[in-house]
Amino acid sequence: MTAHGHRVHGLERRGLMFVLSSPSGAGKTTLSRLLLERMPGLEMSVSVTTRPMRPGEVEGRDYLFVDQARFEAMVKRDELLEWAIVFDHRYGTPRAAVETALSHGRDVLFDIDWQGTQQLREKARADVVSVFILPPSAADLEKRLHSRAQDTDEVIRRRMSRASHEMSHWAEYDYIVINREVDDAFAEVQSILKAERLKRERRTGLTSFVRELQRQLEK
Ligand code: 5GP
Repeated sequence: MTAHGHRVHGLERRGLMFVLSSPSGAGKTTLSRLLLERMPGLEMSVSVTTRPMRPGEVEGRDYLFVDQARFEAMVKRDELLEWAIVFDHRYGTPRAAVETALSHGRDVLFDIDWQGTQQLREKARADVVSVFILPPSAADLEKRLHSRAQDTDEVIRRRMSRASHEMSHWAEYDYIVINREVDDAFAEVQSILKAERLKRERRTGLTSFVRELQRQLEK
């Protein structure tokens, strides 16, 4: 799960797994899109799911849409890094794409729930950075679920009642961001990623860099 090769200020470092979780409607999709647009060296992990495609979604960009049998086959062949059942449908992270990205020194962004986050943490604790996004209020969450107009009223009602349960896992995450204003929330999430990229343990190129500095100083 580690990688060498991505450079910060010309120095090698390990790639990291950047996880965003939240109840649906807290603005996680927008934050993910902004991160991908504005943070070079970060790529999205595209999940597989058995849920039906929503209007506006694109196969291969939002999800890989598969039927139950295909999903089960992927589980059997150990092709998923983690998987979980959310809202009666199966969701999972294809392992190969993540491993390829990390081995090329790129960071990977995950939009997965708390169950998947727990599994990633068990597999690669040192490489996982997790952020939980909270809505500022229940009314705000409901408004966002209605305004994206992708789900029926019945589905929205179920998502609202699930939100409280999902939120109960907030304390398992490394960072918490409250999404009052998307620009502010984005700046916070971006700061987290920037700081985590600078962590000493991930910066595998530092030892030789410092050694070279010392050599020059002692000349
Ligand atoms: P939606 O159906 O709204 O796209 O996603 C529903 C929930 O499933 C979201 O909380 C999302 O984070 C989660 N999810 C999406 N992909 C995955 C995945 O690959 N694994 C896990 N564990 N959860 C996922």
